Amino acid sequence: MNSSSLLSHRSQEPERSVLYMVGTPIGNLNDLSFRAINILKNVSLIACEDTRHTRKIMNKFNISNKLISFNKHNSLIKIPKIVKDLKEGKSIAIVSDAGMPGICDPGEDIARSVKYEGIDMICVPGACAALTALVSSGLPSSRFVFEGFLPKKKIDREKILLEISKNEKTTIIYESPKRLSKLLMELLEFCGGDREIMVARELTKKFEEHICNNINNVIEFFKDKDIIGEITIVIKGIKKTDFNPNKSIIKKDLNDLISAGLSLSAASKYLAKKNGLKKSEVYNLI
Ligand code: SAM
Repeated sequence: MNSSSLLSHRSQEPERSVLYMVGTPIGNLNDLSFRAINILKNVSLIACEDTRHTRKIMNKFNISNKLISFNKHNSLIKIPKIVKDLKEGKSIAIVSDAGMPGICDPGEDIARSVKYEGIDMICVPGACAALTALVSSGLPSSRFVFEGFLPKKKIDREKILLEISKNEKTTIIYESPKRLSKLLMELLEFCGGDREIMVARELTKKFEEHICNNINNVIEFFKDKDIIGEITIVIKGIKKTDFNPNKSIIKKDLNDLISAGLSLSAASKYLAKKNGLKKSEVYNLI
């Protein structure tokens, strides 16, 4: 346990042998904090996802410091080097292309490695697209689920979509603009057209846009539009009494389980438990 050493001398930042996870803007450069600027100016080096991108922030705030690239393509090679530098007394800042390092970017891997090595790590908080979208949505925000990017593999993706369809808490998802239309159609299939959502586009930027409506109307809004920019989706949770399981999905699951060799009775029992239904209700779908 080394808790007290981390909590004492914050005014002397940056300290030797500390990794700083520094939150940077998600669009609006004025969101960089005074503390972040001080750390970025004074650490031994900054490890960033894209040096060209981070240099823009550095230029705006007159930060001249050593930059190295640290991204998903080189993280396996770079992590041992960063750990070695930290052990030798350097202070290092990790920044991602946008927002909080560690949220859906390679910052997560370095944070885990550094903790494992017993090296001190401090998070310097900054903007995060997930929380900015959640608060902007006006949907219940004290208890929520963050799913990041949904898995690409169909079976894993459908498992999460089913969870979202039944979730009583607000859910936040990241998605690329290219795949937004597909995701909206999946949400329609799993959650139904009446579920309230918000698509947040270009948060904190000049053309920031919040499209808040039910899924049917949001699909209509984006129909025939060329979707560009950064996107975060916020989905309202259900009231427990509202849950209306999607019968066509359960029927498909039932057929899949029977094809895989389960008896109708066993498959119905399993799906009834999973979806909060009576066994007879599932049984009758066949
Ligand atoms: N670490 C970042 C954070 O703290 O939010 C997220 C990194 S993740 C690789 C990038 C995704 O975040 C984008 O694909 C998008 O879904 C979301 N995002 C980032 N900036 C955004 C913005 N200005 N508006 C809406 N969503 C944004």
